[in-house]
Amino acid sequence: MPRTPIYLDNHATTRVDPRVVEAMLPFFTDSYGNPASVTHAVGRAARDAVETARAKIAAAVGGAAKESVFTSGATESNNLAIKGIAGHPSRRGRHLVSVVTEHPSVLEPLERLAAAGFEVTLLPVAPKGHPRAGLVDPQAVADALREDTILVSVMLANNEVGAIAPVGEIARICHERDLPLHSDATQAVGKTAVDFRALGVDLASFSAHKVYGPKGIGALYVRHRNRRARLAPLIDGGGHERGLRSGTLNAAAIVGFARAVELCLEELPAEAKRLRGLRNRLFAGITSALDGVTLNGPVLEREDWRLPGNLNLAFGDVDGESLLMNVPDLALSSGSACTSAQPGPSHVLRALGMADDTVRSSVRFGLGRFNTSEELDYTLCLIVEAAARLRRMASSA
Ligand code: PMP
Repeated sequence: MPRTPIYLDNHATTRVDPRVVEAMLPFFTDSYGNPASVTHAVGRAARDAVETARAKIAAAVGGAAKESVFTSGATESNNLAIKGIAGHPSRRGRHLVSVVTEHPSVLEPLERLAAAGFEVTLLPVAPKGHPRAGLVDPQAVADALREDTILVSVMLANNEVGAIAPVGEIARICHERDLPLHSDATQAVGKTAVDFRALGVDLASFSAHKVYGPKGIGALYVRHRNRRARLAPLIDGGGHERGLRSGTLNAAAIVGFARAVELCLEELPAEAKRLRGLRNRLFAGITSALDGVTLNGPVLEREDWRLPGNLNLAFGDVDGESLLMNVPDLALSSGSACTSAQPGPSHVLRALGMADDTVRSSVRFGLGRFNTSEELDYTLCLIVEAAARLRRMASSA
């Protein structure tokens, strides 16, 4: 039997890789200088480490070092991109376009802007059962654009159903109108090959703790010397990060972030294949042992439409929360757990046109680097046993 609990919530966060911890440690006690204190060697050592890390991270995501702004995480990066575009004095229009299935750290800033007089169009996604379930149609983006549109924001990969959006195509549509495109790439970086420059995004958010790095550090990619990407800062102060995000840089976390991204990149093709294999085996095992279990999100066969480690299933007449309570050895999330600050049926699954009962029967499996084949076999047994038990109990009640 594998060691428990078995962690299958890698979309929520990941365990820090020991190799990342090792890279970070000297920056707490030896190279502890302030990266902005360049008048002495202690500060310069920290500055050099930050700049080396910045270059590594940029290279891993298809950007240049000067195109990254360090933040506290993707929540802040999304806020900076959206409010930063809307708040820049060069912007005249008041219309923004996004998608219903975005993360709350995109939807809530949009909501706040709407309350302040902006107009927001949220586009639908293909419904459950459709091969491209959870994906936005680029034509719908084109149709939503207006004379007064100032920003389009479309996430690269969804955190609940793993849908990978056609962001390259959407970028072309936006650029025909000289409009900036922001993409929340938090779930895509490290899991799929990401190249922001090739994709054509102007702004992109990502975060270290989703890629086996530390919590509390993220970045916003800001396309260099481009009118479209001009932002107003959210945090003013000493003018760090080219005035876009003041505050002393967390050198230890930044070094860890770079090491984490570097490791993902080194291991990416083999790891994606391994996770896809484990994920597909889990899906086949569950659906052959239990009737009435259906897939939420895009088809598993399309590697370009779905994240390798993502599986989201509706268990039909079995309540998702009860199922989770019956498998205490598994660290899993129900369809609604991602916005744990505001519990309720998942807005993503609802956007797939699913009834509340089906949403409530859903469970998200997020497979990651430290999951083994043995763990997945055990997971299959526990899930099938628990779902069958709950069904027996319901039918005898
Ligand atoms: N966007 C997506 C798609 C996410 O999955 C998350 C984390 N749940 C965030 C943004 C927020 O990231 P952070 O925790 O780094 O603020």
